[in-house]
Amino acid sequence: MNAPSRKPPEPKTTGRCPICGKPSAPDRRPFCSKRCAEIDLGRWLKGAYTVPGEPVGNIDDGTLDEFE
Ligand SMILES: [Zn+2]
Repeated sequence: MNAPSRKPPEPKTTGRCPICGKPSAPDRRPFCSKRCAEIDLGRWLKGAYTVPGEPVGNIDDGTLDEFE
């Protein structure tokens, strides 16, 4: 095979894993591993599920009538 001397530009790791800082894996970009991807996903979900105020349940008025 007479391969051309010019190689295609190597896909350098364009970036680092935002979780641990390692070079990101091409198939896991921008993360370095599945674990880090899941960690980031977990963080994202936590942020997404942050609810303003707690879910109000059914408060029994009978238990609070003498609170004062
Ligand atoms: Zn990582």
